[in-house]
Amino acid sequence: MIASVCGELRRHPWTALCVGLLTSIAAQSASAAGCPGHPDAIGTSRTIVVDPRAHPIIGTMQYAKTLPLADREVVLTFDDGPLPKYSDQILDILAAHCAKATFFLVGRQANDNPEGVRKVRDAGHTVATHTQNHPAGMHRLPLDRSKQEIEQGIASVTAALADGTAPAPFLRIPGLRATDGIEEFAASKGLQVWSADFPADDWRNVSAARVYELAIKRLEAKGKGILLLHDIQPRAVAALPGILQELKVRGYRIVHVVPATPDRPATPTEPQQWLLHPPSETVAISRWPKIPKFAVAGPPALPVPALSDLDWRTSGLGVRAPRRGRGVLLRSVAPWPRQTTLMPTGTLAALPVPAASLFKIPESARMTLLASSANRAATAQARSTEVSAAKLAGKPRRNGRAVATEPPASAGPAAQAPESAGVAAPKPAAQTKRNGRSVRVAGKR
Ligand SMILES: [Zn+2]
Repeated sequence: MIASVCGELRRHPWTALCVGLLTSIAAQSASAAGCPGHPDAIGTSRTIVVDPRAHPIIGTMQYAKTLPLADREVVLTFDDGPLPKYSDQILDILAAHCAKATFFLVGRQANDNPEGVRKVRDAGHTVATHTQNHPAGMHRLPLDRSKQEIEQGIASVTAALADGTAPAPFLRIPGLRATDGIEEFAASKGLQVWSADFPADDWRNVSAARVYELAIKRLEAKGKGILLLHDIQPRAVAALPGILQELKVRGYRIVHVVPATPDRPATPTEPQQWLLHPPSETVAISRWPKIPKFAVAGPPALPVPALSDLDWRTSGLGVRAPRRGRGVLLRSVAPWPRQTTLMPTGTLAALPVPAASLFKIPESARMTLLASSANRAATAQARSTEVSAAKLAGKPRRNGRAVATEPPASAGPAAQAPESAGVAAPKPAAQTKRNGRSVRVAGKR
């Protein structure tokens, strides 16, 4: 029916749409065909083989890279099992949909329920690990403790498998709280640290309907990716059938992930396939690459100070830094202005224009100068009066003791002081008074 419709539309631009539709239907038919007795099952569309050493960290909740999925491909993951009460139900639901998933098992849970580990393996799912004791604050643990948690978790699951095989070298850190040290350790062990692309909050106190809603909504927002669920949570058990049915209705496909082995080479991929949204002409890069850690070689060097650090106009002059240690006060900046204007090469050097404030006279000096000038003014006035009086009296100026330019060579200190004071030094008040007497005397003459 659809083929005939597409045949009618062969000459139309919708041809590509018809081809896509047929391909999708064919894939779903293949999935259903691979799930006998469950015609509505979503199935597992394909299996990809990944090399942990080539891609040691994945999952866009934390990292730039994620699994090399095509649009509308989903990878199911379940954490914290096995816990028979709920994990067995999850396995039954997945079996009913022929959907393959990856289980990140806790070592302590594996010790308590080794049969549950084997059930996961025997159902064809990927068995991975999730530390030994699931420490909540893994990022706060000493690195040695974290290493111990990871290695013990692998050992416990390996023991539970009981067939001499090891779990997949896929590791999920509890709470996704990986540190650089943990990631480096995992990489050194050939482990691939799995974050996720979207959770469904099934570990929170929310309804199963809310888990379903979040799973679908967040998947639609990214278009593909790794879904994080917990097989120890009853709300995950309740939500999972609806999630799988809705995924099929919306045209999503389940992808199973297994690790590369010497006998099973990794699925060939291009580097950009490991990005959630590979850059293209129409899709901008949404995330910058993680900044690599540089090993500094050579002698240590002090950082080059910024020019703004040297600009006195922007610094708080005279502001004292907080007291550090005992008895030592440190200034955050030198208390003197530092002119840092750099002259361009080849230009004439020019001194900065001095600020008007530089010419201001401090208040105390101003008082002294004012007193001096007042004395000088009084002396000049007295001398002028004396000379005028002398003129009026018909006496020549040379006879006046107040003539500054002609001090008598033989005059004693008492007689000399007024003249010299009139030229150079401020006069004492007593001498001014004597001049006053002299003026009065001269005036009487
Ligand atoms: Zn967990």
